[in-house]
Amino acid sequence: MHQDCIFCKIVAGVIPCFKIYEDEHTLAFMDINPVNPGHCLVVPKNHAPNLFESDDADLARTMAVVRKISRAVQKALNPYGLNLLQANGPGAAQSVFHLHLHIIPRERDDDLRMNWGLKSGNKDEIAAVAEKIKEALED
Ligand code: AMP
Ligand code: ZN
Repeated sequence: MHQDCIFCKIVAGVIPCFKIYEDEHTLAFMDINPVNPGHCLVVPKNHAPNLFESDDADLARTMAVVRKISRAVQKALNPYGLNLLQANGPGAAQSVFHLHLHIIPRERDDDLRMNWGLKSGNKDEIAAVAEKIKEALED
């Protein structure tokens, strides 16, 4: 665990999250500042600050989980579209320096741009969407 890394703390269970999925190497949880409902994150449990310094096996496993969660989001929410996003460095608006993939369901005419402003989501709504995605994962 990397001492000052918030996602390492989430992986270790020191900080709570709205967990969707976990296996030996990977964790998926809801973004607390969702740009759209269903916005979630997938991280390798091993710390790597960004894509450049990621481990091959961790990256492959993370991407497999990204696909699994994306399928569940697609099934649960039937969004207008779905984007993946992954930021490297402050110039790319990376704010948490533990590798993570954003899964972003799109809404029609949401006019989403690449670097959106962080706005706290409603915790009850985030929890409710997390349940829907988890149910779709079980099917
Ligand atoms: P990035 O700009 O790609 O580094 O994105 C980091 C993301 O992590 C942002 O969308 C934040 O809303 C999200 N985030 C930060 N802290 C937490 C947390 N404790 N739980 C869930 N998501 C978080
Ligand atoms: Zn970390």
